[in-house]
Amino acid sequence: MSTQVKHYIDGEFVNGSGSKQINVTNPANNETIAFINCATQPEVERAIASAKEAFKSWKEVAVSERARVMLRYQHLLKEHHDELATILAQETGKTFEDAKGDVWRGIEVAEHACNIASLLMGETVENVARSIDTYSYTQPLGVCAGITPFNFPAMIPLWMFPLAIACGNTFVLKPSEQDPMTPQRLVELFEQAGAPKGVLQLVHGDKAAVDVLLSHPDIKAISFVGSVGVGQYIYKTGTDNLKRVQAFAGAKNHCVIMPDANKQQVINNLVGASVGAAGQRCMALSVAVFVGAAKEWIPELKEALSKVRPGLWDDKEAGYGPLISPAAKERVLKLIAEGKAEGAECLLDGSDCTVPGYESGNWVGPTMFDKVTTDMSIYKEEIFGPVLCCMEAESLEDAIELVNASPYGNGTSIFTASGAAARKYQHEIEVGQVGINVPIPVPLPFFSFTGWKGSFYGDQHAYGKQAVRFYTETKTITSRWFESDIASGPNMTIALK
Ligand code: NAD
Repeated sequence: MSTQVKHYIDGEFVNGSGSKQINVTNPANNETIAFINCATQPEVERAIASAKEAFKSWKEVAVSERARVMLRYQHLLKEHHDELATILAQETGKTFEDAKGDVWRGIEVAEHACNIASLLMGETVENVARSIDTYSYTQPLGVCAGITPFNFPAMIPLWMFPLAIACGNTFVLKPSEQDPMTPQRLVELFEQAGAPKGVLQLVHGDKAAVDVLLSHPDIKAISFVGSVGVGQYIYKTGTDNLKRVQAFAGAKNHCVIMPDANKQQVINNLVGASVGAAGQRCMALSVAVFVGAAKEWIPELKEALSKVRPGLWDDKEAGYGPLISPAAKERVLKLIAEGKAEGAECLLDGSDCTVPGYESGNWVGPTMFDKVTTDMSIYKEEIFGPVLCCMEAESLEDAIELVNASPYGNGTSIFTASGAAARKYQHEIEVGQVGINVPIPVPLPFFSFTGWKGSFYGDQHAYGKQAVRFYTETKTITSRWFESDIASGPNMTIALK
């Protein structure tokens, strides 16, 4: 019998009364391992009301006490690291080590939230006019909401609620319905860390639950991570309802390979960054642009990719796991077929891949196309599968022009031995996160996750100082204390003197 994943509403773990049931499956064989009853509108509204009530007292809790909840939480997450990674691996199919990485990158944000007091510090200037001082405070917004994707069920919820809550807000999390078990465990541990009732709420469901959050007047800010179409919808609807929104969306990340780069490093890095996690990473390198003679390395890259084999989450030899669902597999296979039909050269075809004993799983083997052009659907669309598209450019300038013409701007990297080439690339490229001889340049939490263009809608990004700005308002105070009675009459101008 499969287990029922619980909502966490008003400090209680509950089954939910919704009639719509969604199964959580093991992507290696598509057997049901758990299920959710989608939250009904009244249930989501109850979660929001409870979060609103909790905000009244949580915002008054001393900042160092809020930080202590985060200190206990990051400690608990570390204690339960393997357990969380096991749950995560079972519902996503990720290999155990990759699942541990997913959890770890989230723990790092919880660690950062322990430093909330200094992150909240405002600014002061004494004597802005005679005897007048100006200073600013950052204050929480109220109830914030997070809507998260399937591909990082630990890291991405942890990008959001620890910092939002440390800032003094309360939070409603609506994680992906495809892997809700990991978020449930994250929430249980948060309760165990001593977070007061109502500060964090968890509701499961799909579009219907999201729509309640998007339109509810008591939700002040929305953080979203997911696909482009849904991201645009969330941004437009949320801002239409006059909410603050940050929406992180899809990507198509290019890697530029200069002929002076270290060949073996390029090959090792490209293999992991293109097909790792079955290519289901928003920072996966899905396009390799070989400049000049670097194209001669394509056969060796193909050789290295062909040795990677997908497998079960607990198979130590597996390079990556299955795709999340049969629908995801079908989409990837359709794109591979389109790539062939549109004239790309398929050097490695993983369409017909299986794992013995798990034939019904969502397997796709490493796939590599050469001679890809910008008009092909495999170039234009985010494939979100283990598929690498290779292209050629005559010069660094041509490569930069190609990358800058992409509507996406999440991540990119350049492999080179030339400081001048790297400097030119980092300066001219219109992408928010750039790696120099680093394949997946996801910034640590003291920076922010800064996707650009069609990969992000909003202005303040995830975690780091930008997240603290996103989850707070600034209040600026101008103050004068009179030492003695002022003899002069009314000041009729706007100037401070
Ligand atoms: P998705 O857009 O299908 O789902 C994301 C969330 O939105 C889920 O919680 C889902 O329930 C909800 N949702 C789905 N359809 C909706 C609708 N019509 N209306 C309202 N809500 C809806 O994304 P996914 O497939 O879970 O995740 C993969 C996508 O996420 C990829 O495109 C990937 O690039 C992107 N992603 C981006 C980043 C980033 O930082 N830019 C990070 C991770 C993933």
